[in-house]
Amino acid sequence: MSKSDRNTGYYRKSQVTKPLKDLKEKQWKDFKWILNHAFQNSQFYKNKMKEANLTPEDISDKEKISKLPLITMEEFLNAQRENPPWGGLLMLPIEKIGTILVSIIDNKPFLIPTSLKEATGSGNASSKALYSAGLRKADIIDIAVALAAGGARGFGLYQAILTFGCCAVPLGSTGHKSQIETIKQLGINGIIGDIMFFQTLTETCEKEGINPKDLKIDVGCVVGSPLGDEIRKELINKWDMVLRGLFVHDEVGVVGRECPQMNGFHLSEELLVEILDTSSLEPVNVGEEGEIVVTIPFRNTLPYIRFRLGARGSINEEVCECGRTSPRLVNYPRRLD
Ligand SMILES: [Zn+2]
Repeated sequence: MSKSDRNTGYYRKSQVTKPLKDLKEKQWKDFKWILNHAFQNSQFYKNKMKEANLTPEDISDKEKISKLPLITMEEFLNAQRENPPWGGLLMLPIEKIGTILVSIIDNKPFLIPTSLKEATGSGNASSKALYSAGLRKADIIDIAVALAAGGARGFGLYQAILTFGCCAVPLGSTGHKSQIETIKQLGINGIIGDIMFFQTLTETCEKEGINPKDLKIDVGCVVGSPLGDEIRKELINKWDMVLRGLFVHDEVGVVGRECPQMNGFHLSEELLVEILDTSSLEPVNVGEEGEIVVTIPFRNTLPYIRFRLGARGSINEEVCECGRTSPRLVNYPRRLD
């Protein structure tokens, strides 16, 4: 497959090219659904609404979303720890949960239940991201990120690969010579990893006298810290591959993905994303920078409603030449602290 084939086309074309107005309408409809679902099924969320003196009926239009309380990861953690196992968070009966992932945070478990709806939603968002990054059916991909330890991150990508039609090889992130040998032996042609992994793999190649280009990697997807221009240039030079970034949050999964234009991260269509002023916590105007807050309507097990990502960025709603209509997160997402 030529590089240009990896720069064209869409995964789920009708979703990714939907007019922005229609996209926003769908997001608002899904938001109302998850708000009602959480209010009815999560004692934790019901209590939060009660403290704010609100019911779902009070949020009669999109402008009123900002009245709703924000949620932090710390609150989720404390709820589970103070009132185990779920701390009033779980919104589905246990028989509807397919998998429970465990994230170890400060040496203590945080439980992440996964329902069928979530697996589908997360798989869909991740598949769109992989396609946008240049991966295609029948690619063989080294997943160099932990599958479960990073919460939703690795697992979501793994689920996506199964529905996407690729072959996933979870090799971990050692970057040792044995990983290079496996890449050669299997004919692996795609890698998902963080910048540090790509750099380690490059160093191992250099130490072993291997030209990275001889490994014939077509596509690299960078997760974790954003890809700076210099490092991108250097890696593309050394590997001769398509190299794009995905913004994948440990708990949320794929928030955004770069397209061939590489001018920001197209937000996952499934998410309702808000940018808030960092001191007043009120919404900023489109284009202004602030804190990123996300609602995930397909996560029907835990209430990810106005969830604070702990990162900042701004949104660009201008039309992108790639044809994808979802707004782009620009000014590379950066940690708040
Ligand atoms: Zn684009």
